[in-house]
Amino acid sequence: MIRPLVIANWKMNGSYAANNTLLTHLLPDIAVEPAIQIAICPPYPYLAQVGQRLIGTPVRLGAQNASLAVNGAHTGEVSVRMLRELGCDYVLVGHSERRSLYGETDASVTHRFAQVVKAGLVPVLCIGETLDERNRGQTDAVIESQLTAVLDDVGEAGFGDAVIAYEPVWAIGTGETASPAQAQAVHANIRSLLSRYSHALAAKTPILYGGSVKADNARDLFRKPDINGGLVGGASLDPAQFIAICDALGQATWAAHSGAA
Ligand code: PEP
Repeated sequence: MIRPLVIANWKMNGSYAANNTLLTHLLPDIAVEPAIQIAICPPYPYLAQVGQRLIGTPVRLGAQNASLAVNGAHTGEVSVRMLRELGCDYVLVGHSERRSLYGETDASVTHRFAQVVKAGLVPVLCIGETLDERNRGQTDAVIESQLTAVLDDVGEAGFGDAVIAYEPVWAIGTGETASPAQAQAVHANIRSLLSRYSHALAAKTPILYGGSVKADNARDLFRKPDINGGLVGGASLDPAQFIAICDALGQATWAAHSGAA
């Protein structure tokens, strides 16, 4: 069974003082959601600080990226082994900002993904179409090519316990959200692509929605059957918003289990 998940992507935001304040407001409230998993991905320099604050809580630590390289002469890079040593469980892979601003390709995303799985960490594979691609009716084709680029290479065994995040590029940081119906349609397509590899993979893989998730749209998104949680950027920096988003997932999970959805 899939354990629903909310991941906070702090992107390149924060400071020692701001992180402490945010966590002080956040942790007492989000740490009490037993039915769901929550993780926080701060920038690299704050992994140790945030990791320390998460000790003794059920909230997990994640990184926003990882090096393709194992170690050695790669100035500025951070390896998966280092991330594991810092206590990370999750690593975002192929975020659209990495693809569009830092030249990541399906090939480099696949290589990175494999490194993350090899290190015993959980990759969160981000896929999604641009507005132009959506308007041209290419959403399904883009999703299929980004997903199969990884799956065809690593195979079902190499996919590990990966999480998929469907993040329409046009909805990230824009305040525009895919409607619950639009998101559900893509999530159902992703699930059926996974089932081409195996039904077990389709049944166990969490598929998160990301793209301007907020307190006021989370509930309707999370009530869709193939949306297993969210990858949250901007709203994860606001404790009231993030707590409400986690609550919405907790409630949707409870409703699904009790048949009250
Ligand atoms: C993200 O960074 O993955 C994201 C979805 O950002 P936002 O929630 O701000 O759109």
